Amino acid sequence: MSQATLPIDFRTNAQHVPPKMPASVQKATAKFLGNRAALVEALGNELWQTLRQAAHDVRLHAITNLDQYLEQAERAVTKAGGHVHWARDAAEANRIVLEMARHHQVRKVVKSKSMATEEIGLNHALEAEGIQVIETDLGEYIVQLLGMGPAHIVVPAFHLSKEEIAALFREKLGVDAPAEAEKLTQVARMKLRQEFLTAGLGISGGNFLIAETGTIVTVTNEGNGRMCTTVPPVHVAIVGIDKIVPDWESLTVLLKVLARSATGQKITCYTQFISGPPRADAETGPKESHLVLLDNGRSRILQTPETRETLLCIRCGACLNICPVFNNVGGYTYGYPISGPTGVLFASQILGVKAAGGLPFASTLCGACNDICPVKIPITEILLHLRHRVAEGDEQEKAAAPSLMRTGAQVGSVALRTPWLYRLGSSLLKWAQAPLKRDDWLAKLPPPLSRWTMARPLPAFAADFRSWWRTRSHKR
Ligand code: SF4
Repeated sequence: MSQATLPIDFRTNAQHVPPKMPASVQKATAKFLGNRAALVEALGNELWQTLRQAAHDVRLHAITNLDQYLEQAERAVTKAGGHVHWARDAAEANRIVLEMARHHQVRKVVKSKSMATEEIGLNHALEAEGIQVIETDLGEYIVQLLGMGPAHIVVPAFHLSKEEIAALFREKLGVDAPAEAEKLTQVARMKLRQEFLTAGLGISGGNFLIAETGTIVTVTNEGNGRMCTTVPPVHVAIVGIDKIVPDWESLTVLLKVLARSATGQKITCYTQFISGPPRADAETGPKESHLVLLDNGRSRILQTPETRETLLCIRCGACLNICPVFNNVGGYTYGYPISGPTGVLFASQILGVKAAGGLPFASTLCGACNDICPVKIPITEILLHLRHRVAEGDEQEKAAAPSLMRTGAQVGSVALRTPWLYRLGSSLLKWAQAPLKRDDWLAKLPPPLSRWTMARPLPAFAADFRSWWRTRSHKR
């Protein structure tokens, strides 16, 4: 798995997107969106909107009562014979898993897909201690062979063609794999089976955590998740504290919207429920079951009313699929394992605006993500608040924008509110742009305006609004 390089420079990353990436991304996202649209249509828009509202209400209730539900879940897991660990940040979560691995003298770990483990860089932490980590989700397995992380939160290798995967298997696994999905899956299955049987620790994430019974819920289309959580002698699930849901009834609403929004399925192939380790007389299953509850900035997100609803996310990936920016740059450009609009919200708050302050600007604010989000997160409103945090700072963080830019914005704001200054500025602008003007265009401007003109020319400033308005009224 590749790790985030900080600070994240989205603009520079975007300049290095491979030319074929947008077409590959758009082909895959169009399929997911088409499947989703068909299912929503079959349900009827009215019912779908009712479900979205119910899902929103359930999630909002859960995160506003987070302390109460987390404690309830802890009690239930402990009662069922599981062990609960609380991790304040990524380092603490990694340390907990490492100590567990050392205690059991684990040399090999099998993992199912988990964005929480990607977020904390668990693979690196384990590998640095000489522990082999095998990703067992097919997409994760493929990107791991490439030395990369997931390119999409639901379908990690969605940008790769069958031919590319076949070539990768030939090169890395030394097998002659034809470019056929079924055959490629068989190759991976055969390679992975032995890994499941010889691993000392199985690691998973959790899509939800049900407070009333302490049940970890995983939602997947591959059987590897069940192998990771049942074959090795020890299982550990790393679950963000935001994944809590009060009860089974709430879960049913969320399961209905998750699969439909993610892959356009009514329900995924596997929905697994883990409530502690197997009973003492069970013949199979892990001997120990651990749950790591990961905070890593989530409590801080919860404290800010303007951004709190970030935590409603159920990681369906629909906002990635619909986002015009994501569709043109792909997942890696975001420089963070969780990409697209939801990734922007998480990365800029978890890493902070100094490290990821460029990300809230990686959006056209078109609002398509708001409309598609099954839990009705007001993504663009949160993005605007985060932009404000970058520019002006707020109660959570100091401003991260360069002081020159902040001063420029403040001067601009005063000028726009003061008529005589606005008129003076307009006449000065007409004069100042003359040396740079070519016909009616400004092709090359000095920094910071060069950010615009490096991509496209800017229309030359024609007249101030009042003069333009007078001319226009006169002509009519
Ligand atoms: S923000 Fe909404 S649409 Fe995007 S991944 Fe999260 S739940 Fe899905």
